[in-house]
Amino acid sequence: MLKATKDKSLVTTITGSLPRPHWYTDSLAGRSLSNVFFGDFKFHEQYQDAVSCCIADQCSAGLDIYTDGDMRFDMDLGGRAWFGYIYDRMSGIEDSALRSLPFGGSPREEQPGDIFNEIMVTRLPPRVTGPVGPGALEYDLAWKIAQHVSPKPVKFGACSAQVVDMLVVNEYYKDRIETIMALSEAKNQAYHSLADAGCPVIQIEEPCLHFVEDIEWEVSAEVYTEAFNLEVEGLRDKTEVWCHTCWGNPYAQNLGYGAKYKPVLPYLEQLAVDVVTFEMKYADYLELDEVAAAIGGDKKIAIGVISHRTLQVETPEEVAADIRKALRVIDPERLILSTDCGFGRQGISRKHAFYKMVSLVRGTNIVRRELGLEEVPVLAEQANLGYL
Ligand SMILES: [Zn+2]
Repeated sequence: MLKATKDKSLVTTITGSLPRPHWYTDSLAGRSLSNVFFGDFKFHEQYQDAVSCCIADQCSAGLDIYTDGDMRFDMDLGGRAWFGYIYDRMSGIEDSALRSLPFGGSPREEQPGDIFNEIMVTRLPPRVTGPVGPGALEYDLAWKIAQHVSPKPVKFGACSAQVVDMLVVNEYYKDRIETIMALSEAKNQAYHSLADAGCPVIQIEEPCLHFVEDIEWEVSAEVYTEAFNLEVEGLRDKTEVWCHTCWGNPYAQNLGYGAKYKPVLPYLEQLAVDVVTFEMKYADYLELDEVAAAIGGDKKIAIGVISHRTLQVETPEEVAADIRKALRVIDPERLILSTDCGFGRQGISRKHAFYKMVSLVRGTNIVRRELGLEEVPVLAEQANLGYL
């Protein structure tokens, strides 16, 4: 159900991750969040302060929906913690190690010396050795820590069960499909704990299905659609549910291999979610019309108007022009403005992320003004910290 974005036009947010502050040097290193947050003073302080910094930056930028910046993730290689947090905590999964995985959709993954190769070989995939369960995912605790210091709704996102399946070595279930369904059910339990704790937006990140049509995959789009809907089953009765899609984040790389949204839009439309997000800025709004035509009125559409791959900060005028483009085909009450993906841990700096968030809201305010909608104050543009 719509909750955080209900009856709101041109809502602004980011996808999820923010660059870690340099002084946040501690890591969970496989331990459960509750164990360390409540038992280790140094970690407790660093984690709480890091989350608070993320919230403060988003507050200063004037965003409508915040995230905790994914501060639970360790300083990893190639964004591994997005999966690794789950590998280390779900029951039935163990023994992350250097082992071979089938390479995916590009010869670049097999070529030593290519950044795609490093992304693959640093995955350290674990084995599935027993029935999987939510274990110590503790999404509810992570969300509560952030919401506790936030004056606005905090969206909580995590990578989908089908992405976890893609990168584990199954030694327990009959086949891939059985593994995907079991992982989806287990993650569904974790999301229900999160919804029951009061989380106003739950975001499932990157179903594999939007990559399926251009690459020969072992699992069909139909199975991925069914698995995704199992992963979110019952959640919409309790809270707002989003599905995030993009073409890659590790080291800020585009891993889309030329894949397009168009062939899988009918499947994305079948997902039991309130909002679907689309990477748009980096590809200069290619497929905007197709997306708008395919996603039905029961869902809102979030588009990336800020790139997580480029260092140049988009100007507010550029953001406003892009929003006007989107408004040609999407009504303001159904349009959400976001980033193409999270800002990540080895992509851009905190400064870049901050000023990009500010531009996102300043640009949206230009359009709000034109449409007679209420503007959201941007604290960052009101504070003159200089000498002029
Ligand atoms: Zn993404």
